[in-house]
Amino acid sequence: MTSQVMDPKVSDGPAVSPYVAGLRGRCPRCGMGKLFSGYLGLAPRCTNCGLDYSFADSGDGPAVFVMLIAGFVVVMSALVTEVLWRPPYWVHAALWLPAIVILSLVLLRLAKGLLITLQYHHKAEEGRLDRGAP
Ligand SMILES: [Zn+2]
Repeated sequence: MTSQVMDPKVSDGPAVSPYVAGLRGRCPRCGMGKLFSGYLGLAPRCTNCGLDYSFADSGDGPAVFVMLIAGFVVVMSALVTEVLWRPPYWVHAALWLPAIVILSLVLLRLAKGLLITLQYHHKAEEGRLDRGAP
């Protein structure tokens, strides 16, 4: 057996959980290299194993999940606050406008990393028609 099989830079080892790697912003194959080069921009490839991230296309998926989750959390929090304490409107603005921005930015990175690692894990790609052998 050569060292190539045991080398994590070459192996597709089964030890990487797509959920852990995605939420940590790590490579879906090795779980070590960074997935992002900026806050939301993808790196061109893994710095550890060299996996090319050109396959990654999360599309609008992360934004949809973030809008639904953050919107629900903030609206429900605003409703509960209004019913329990009836604060003036400026308190609502001071509380919920920053909350929706911060929550959206935090959740967007997590959701994008998670959807990309799940895309890699499940080998999801754009559908094609199989027209049989020519
Ligand atoms: Zn990697």
